[in-house]
Parts: sequence; C-alpha cells; structure tokens
Amino acid sequence: MPAFKTLDDLTDIAGKRVLVRVDLNVPVADGKVTDKTRIERVAPTILELSKKGAKVILLAHFGRPKDGPSADLSLSQILSAVNEVLGQKILFATDCIGPDAEQAVSAMKNGEILLLENTRFHKAEEKNDAAFTEALARNGDLFVNDAFSAAHRAHSSTEGLAHHLPAYAGRTMQEELEALEKGLGNPSRPVVAIVGGAKVSSKIDLLQNLVKKVDALVIGGGMANTFIAAQGIDVGKSLCEHDLAETAKAIMTEAKASNCTIVLPVDGVIAREFKAGAANEVVAIDAIPADAMVLDVGPKSIEAVNEWISKASTLVWNGPLGAFEISPFDAATVAAAKHAAAETKAGKLTSVAGGGDTVAALNHAGVADDFSYVSTAGGAFLEWMEGKELPGVSVLSKTA
Ligand code: AMP
Repeated sequence: MPAFKTLDDLTDIAGKRVLVRVDLNVPVADGKVTDKTRIERVAPTILELSKKGAKVILLAHFGRPKDGPSADLSLSQILSAVNEVLGQKILFATDCIGPDAEQAVSAMKNGEILLLENTRFHKAEEKNDAAFTEALARNGDLFVNDAFSAAHRAHSSTEGLAHHLPAYAGRTMQEELEALEKGLGNPSRPVVAIVGGAKVSSKIDLLQNLVKKVDALVIGGGMANTFIAAQGIDVGKSLCEHDLAETAKAIMTEAKASNCTIVLPVDGVIAREFKAGAANEVVAIDAIPADAMVLDVGPKSIEAVNEWISKASTLVWNGPLGAFEISPFDAATVAAAKHAAAETKAGKLTSVAGGGDTVAALNHAGVADDFSYVSTAGGAFLEWMEGKELPGVSVLSKTA
C-alpha cells in the first residue's frame, strides 16, 4: 500500500489549527438527522485531535447545492446531531472561507471544534480552484482527510488542500484503506468476489477489473441474467440487458485468460410478479418459462456460492444476489451473507463489502457487524473496486 501519514504522526499539535475533511452528508428529514452513522464514523478522529489540544476545524459538503447558499442545504441543521454524537457542543461558522470563517477560527481555544458551512456553497470547491483552496488553507496549519467516501473526487477540500498543508489520513480513512488493501491490494488467496445487483451496465469496469484480480467471480442478481442470456439461454421476462451480450462474453473470455473462474447460477427462483410473497418456484437455469422472471438464485446455486466462500481466504462483495428487498427473494443473499459472516467469525475469512445496496442487504441479513469491513462509501468504494485511482487517497501518499 502506498505510504501515507496518519494521526500517529501528529504528536505535538496543541494549539495547531487542523482542517479536517469529514463526511457529514447524512440523511435529514423534517430538519432532523435520520441516520447518524456517518457522524459516528468520523467522531474518533475529531475527538482524538481535540483531546490532543488541536483546534479542530471541520470541512464538509452537504447535498448538491446548485446556486450558492441555501437554508435547506446548510450544515447548521445537523449541529445538534453532531453535538450529541461527540458529547460536546461544537462551534459553527456561516461560511467556510472569508471573514466569517477567519474570525471564528481566530477565536478558537485549544481543543475546541468548529464546523464550517457547506464547502459546496462555493462552486470553486468542485473545480478544485487554486484561489479557493488557498482561502481554505489560510485557516489551517495541518490537513487531515477522514472522508474516504469523497476521495474519488478531486475537489479543493478533498485533494487540493493536501498540496498546501502537511496532509494526514484520519482514523476512518486509515481503517478503510487498510481494509481495502486486505481486500484487493495485497489479499490473502484464494480471493473470491461476489458481484450482484440489477445491471451489468453500471458495473462493466468493476467486472473487468475483478476478473484480472480474483480467483473466482460469483455473478448473481439481475446481472447474472445478462450473462446467462449471452450463452443462448432464454431468461423469459427476467431483468436482462440483451444489448450487452458481447460485453458479457468479453468478460468471460478475459476471465479465462486470467485464470478466474466465473460462477453463474445453475438454478433460479422464478415468479410472475415483482412483489413480496409472489407465488414462486425453483427451476433449472435453462428451464425458465417465457412468462416468468428470475428474482433470486436457487438453492443449488447458493450451495455453490457457499462452497466458494468456504474455499476463500478473502471475500470482496458488492451487490445482492437477488431482489432482497422483497421476501422470499432475499434467501440467497441472506444465506451467503450469513455463511461469510460465520467464516469471518471463525477466523477463516477476511470479508470486505460495500457499495450501493450491499450495506442494506447485509444489514437485512443481520450480519454487517460480523464482516471484517463494511464500507459505507458508495461511489468511492465502487471506483476502488474498478481499480481506479482515487485522487483524495493518492495525494496523501504523494505528499507523505
Ligand atoms: P445495484 O444497485 O446495482 O447493486 O442493484 C441492487 C438492486 O438489484 C436491488 O434493488 C435488487 O432488488 C435488484 N436485483 C437483484 N437481483 C435482481 C433480480 N434477479 N431481478 C431484479 N432485480 C434484482
């Protein structure tokens, strides 16, 4: 893994102004934070710096502002949730640069925590604009990035600042990078990947990268139908991207060349309606009736997936094996998730999962806490699985 500095390298920081990029893009309904997970994830970094006597200045974006500041995208609405999680009252400035921010920072005492207003209220943030980055940097002596989830974007507060100030990875960023390194960077073999979800079209880069890196690639969910149909099998009314048959074939060919075994479903659970409790039956994958759709992989396929999980030393997982939101089509996802969790708990498996609906699927199976690491990063996690360079991460190692 490329070297990067962490909070362990920050010893004598009492009185230092530390700009900390965090992910506070939490869901809000009726002015109330409905899920505090993201705040909880960055709390250790914030509290550690505060305890060391630093002046902790938080930078974060919130939503996608179009035309500058707006009350509904102000970070002021999440202040009380942040106070609650941190167990102390934090300060707030109504802008992230300029006189408001500068005055608030200069009034800070050692150990205090200040949240600056939504960085995306300035268009320059997303352009990684040099003057804006300099204006941000004026309020800090050091820069800590604890927002892996925003690291796939080269913005002023995620990438630019690392060129202006000594830059460090926060605890959450560090934990995420270490987990990802164990997943695909330098994994213990055999490595098995499970990729499910709705469509091949949104995961072509990911599949192409994985076949080069893993020993076996389990393909489930709606996207498996595209691979099955590409082999000339009728998938009836199943979700299927027939126009991607050639892409699916090319991925199979690439897998063969890279010694990666592709594991496709051999049976499926079919229904005629996409709804919970719909009448269903198990059929062999080459016996799907023309008026039915596959909504989950079948029991024989689950057995095969679980055998691969048992053989694996490392598992990387993105996307559900079936339409897990509607029972009973959650069976395969739940069974495989439980098996992976048990293998992990037994010390036989390193399991890394993330992206899109995967966290929801693992929570639904009740095993998210039993995986080695579950990333809530979404887009950044997917780009990592695609083998892309994440600018917010690479700048930490380039400037280390
Ligand atoms: P993604 O966001 O690409 O990971 O896709 C997740 C979605 O794929 C979930 O909402 C699942 O319900 C859906 N899904 C998984 N398997 C199937 C299937 N066989 N048919 C239709 N939708 C599916």
